[in-house]
Amino acid sequence: MFKKKNLYLILLVILTSLSNLNAQTKAPKPVFSDGPYLFYQDQSVVAKWMENNQLQQRTFSIGENLDLPEKLSPDFDLHFEDLENRPVRQEEINFTTNGPIVALSDVHGQYLVTLKLLRENRIIDENNNWIFGNGHLVLVGDIFDRGDQVTELLWFFHKLERQAPKSGGQVHVLLGNHELMVLTGDLRYLHKKYRYTMAVMQMPLNELFSKNSYLGAWLRSRPLAITINDMAFVHGGFSELLLEKTNSLATINRLGQKSIDAAAEESASDSLLTFMGTINGPLWYRGYFDKEQVSKQNANTILKKLGKKHIIVGHTSHEAIVSLFGNKIIGVDSSIKFGKRGEILIVDRGEFYRGTVQGERIKL
Ligand code: ZN
Repeated sequence: MFKKKNLYLILLVILTSLSNLNAQTKAPKPVFSDGPYLFYQDQSVVAKWMENNQLQQRTFSIGENLDLPEKLSPDFDLHFEDLENRPVRQEEINFTTNGPIVALSDVHGQYLVTLKLLRENRIIDENNNWIFGNGHLVLVGDIFDRGDQVTELLWFFHKLERQAPKSGGQVHVLLGNHELMVLTGDLRYLHKKYRYTMAVMQMPLNELFSKNSYLGAWLRSRPLAITINDMAFVHGGFSELLLEKTNSLATINRLGQKSIDAAAEESASDSLLTFMGTINGPLWYRGYFDKEQVSKQNANTILKKLGKKHIIVGHTSHEAIVSLFGNKIIGVDSSIKFGKRGEILIVDRGEFYRGTVQGERIKL
């Protein structure tokens, strides 16, 4: 009898300490904030955001100041007047400049590394404002997915896009495959923070970026491909198969933008629209970095069809900016997605450089 009682006691002690251990090792519930997301509603705008896992919401009418908590997205700078002018599709896609050009891609929610890279290379100041004068900045796709500061990055690039022209510069935000994925409801690569956002807002992320939201309308107005001087920019690449079908960047942009909201039946009946989403499509192609697929000769043929001298792409990750065939093809996805470091491409007076996170320029 005594023995049995002892055994019970021992068992009780073991069970209690196990449950204590469990309580100690159990991670605390994460606390997230995210936003703002703005939605058009008649003559007003509804702002929704998540503050410490709680839904916050305010309706603003015409003329009211959009005073939202600053810590949400530090670069959010919209006023109601801006909201009255809904973002429109940009027709101009061919640009010329005598100023410097920088390009980066695949920032994937890594706001802090992106800021550091742009500060050290004197594109923005310590308050994240444009100081690149008449320069052009190209974000070659993929702001969404993986990292936890996607909304911050969207408002940041949106702000720069508005600031740059004041000093003769320009910002070009190009769509990548991850923009297309999120906008069409493929949410496989989201950081878990956005699962909280969706639960709190009771909306899937693609609805938070619907046509009726400000950022959704803004993203839908962005191109997939542009040219600056003798360079063409696109997220994945221009495959030979694509160029057999079309070498018109305007067509590529129109189809890419259309594919966001096209119904499945519509896509199925339009072979070029279907082609956009394949591995040879402009947002998915990786062939330039596969010697079996693209030789110097193929690269020359591709450039000739585009009528350009250089192609700048993201999408295929490398440790640094990479150059193929004497700068004919340059890959700018320098793995910023890991949140540790990265590089930007700098084109200055006809020379190509890698701009490092320490602000050094290394000739390509
Ligand atoms: Zn990509």
